[in-house]
Amino acid sequence: MLNSDKIWQLVDARKDAYEALSDRVWEMPEICYTEYRSVAEHRAMLEQEGFRITENLAGIPTAIMGEAGDGGPVIAVLGEYDALPGLSQVAGVAEPKELVPGGHGHGCGHNMLGAAALLAATAVKTYLAQQGIKGRVRYYGCPAEEGGAAKVFMVRAGHFQDVDIAITWHPAAINRVDDAVSLANTRIDFTFKGRASHAAAAPHLGRSALDAVELMNVGVNYMREHMPADARIHYAMIDAGGVAPNVVQAKATVRYAVRARDLPGMRALIDRVKKVAEGAALMTETNVSLKVVSAVSNLLGNTPLEQAMQTQFERLGPPPFDAADRTYAAAIQATLSAEDVASAYARAGMPARTDTPLCDFIVPHGTKGAAMIGSTDVGDVSWVVPTVQARVATHAIGTPGHSWQITAQGKSGQAKKGMVHAAKVMAGVAVAALQDPNLIARAKADHETRTNETPYDCPLPAEVAPPLQPRPATA
Ligand SMILES: [Zn+2]
Repeated sequence: MLNSDKIWQLVDARKDAYEALSDRVWEMPEICYTEYRSVAEHRAMLEQEGFRITENLAGIPTAIMGEAGDGGPVIAVLGEYDALPGLSQVAGVAEPKELVPGGHGHGCGHNMLGAAALLAATAVKTYLAQQGIKGRVRYYGCPAEEGGAAKVFMVRAGHFQDVDIAITWHPAAINRVDDAVSLANTRIDFTFKGRASHAAAAPHLGRSALDAVELMNVGVNYMREHMPADARIHYAMIDAGGVAPNVVQAKATVRYAVRARDLPGMRALIDRVKKVAEGAALMTETNVSLKVVSAVSNLLGNTPLEQAMQTQFERLGPPPFDAADRTYAAAIQATLSAEDVASAYARAGMPARTDTPLCDFIVPHGTKGAAMIGSTDVGDVSWVVPTVQARVATHAIGTPGHSWQITAQGKSGQAKKGMVHAAKVMAGVAVAALQDPNLIARAKADHETRTNETPYDCPLPAEVAPPLQPRPATA
């Protein structure tokens, strides 16, 4: 029997306060770099628990760090609290119903993500003090995971330099240790400038920036056949040059996301996309300029930490969902297609089941699923610190990411049980590392093996700063 059971009791002892924190953050959904009220809630908890607080990490007013303990290894627990635009939703129902018309919502469950990470850090803090162990635990409050890449700026500013291991989690449908597969991703705005003119009276004098955007998109779409199958490129027109068809559009901007399995692959694709943009400018006699908006690296796995997390997870078992949780989850599942549910199992590499709407198993370590992968700024932390992530069930199997169904389930019984469970898994790994310095040494050796041929190379151009947002008058 490992001595980590005490840590689980410490999590349970404080869980009510953190379930309430998760609910409060759910009720104040703030997006990309506007998380002023949410970070204030996290700051208040850190203060109440007696952490030493550092604010404005990387110059970001909505990023925060709390540290406790002395000497010894430094264990980081990463939390998030940003919401998504346009996913406002009433909690606890099984139909799409906006809470605030046009409002934001916690459609990725980051209200739980941050609260559980802080709960884990708090339990480890108490554990260190009670056991008189040398060691430090840090909670990193990370904003703007959705499209803002805040952790990359925090890594670049050196905030993880002296961290020994990092632990985090994400709300999910299926319980598993994350298999550390994600895509490196860069967002770039391509702005074309041409010449306005009367589209009927003097079309020959105009040079259309919108034509250039369209030709660029056509060119990139032709590229798709000739790029790696697991790379992804998407675009959104963020400025189509105006609403008047009788004016030749003098300026237009298209935002691209270019994703690949690793940074060299991503950079090679970006070079090709740039050539297509230049070609479009040449064809239309416009000029093109580009601006990197954000960039993240792919995730790096860490076998010793993943095995340690699997051990903790299996000892704990799945979250203890009850009949009421299953009833609500079944109602949510009724809003999904059979394909939604089947693909959740396929992604996890597990046989599909129809007998339960909530995950009551833990995916065995090393199970290979069907790759359907996105990107995360945890990737950059994983390149500088051995990092491990849990995925813990907080919503019905098949619930799509970034959906009203996730917002709706964000304050539910399954959300609460899942987040407290996640805190136990994370705190259990932290305690395992504190009790066994050999685990940290093995994690570091594994990390070195993975990085010594390709050291970390920050994907953000040096001149790119976080796109900070002003503090709203109400925050
Ligand atoms: Zn997320």
